[in-house]
Amino acid sequence: MTARSGIGFDSHRFEEGRRLVLGGVEVPYTRGLAGHSDADVLAHAVTDALLGAAGLDDIGLHFPDTDEHWRDADSIELLRRACALLDENGLAPVNVDTVVLCEAPKLGPFRDAMRERLADALGLAAADVGVKFTTGEGMGFVGRGEGIAALATATVAAHGSG
Ligand code: MG
Repeated sequence: MTARSGIGFDSHRFEEGRRLVLGGVEVPYTRGLAGHSDADVLAHAVTDALLGAAGLDDIGLHFPDTDEHWRDADSIELLRRACALLDENGLAPVNVDTVVLCEAPKLGPFRDAMRERLADALGLAAADVGVKFTTGEGMGFVGRGEGIAALATATVAAHGSG
């Protein structure tokens, strides 16, 4: 079997009184992201990219925000469950790449921790997980500091072929 690729995108708006969690790492900031789960926009984009690569629909289908079970859920746990779904379908992640669009706070100091956290959930080496950051240069909802967005691509292949 050849490798398959998928993409994921997510965005969440800032909300007072919430923790800011990105890639499974808590980033100290004055605000967090609104959402049913911990609103980890980066983990959500990665999860959708993996599910898309595997032909397994999307995060909303598997982990609906109408389900109380997922309230304030650790999104790294959702990512682990998505990997388990891939495993049941004979697939495993090969590599993941991501971009986080965020005006503030500065995320660079947390890059390595995010890569390691995501890689651990994916069963990959940190070298197989890209985490990059960019701003909106003052444009659009990211640039105005209304929220954070994330893009991800994932490549998956049959067990043992990666
Ligand atoms: Mg989301």
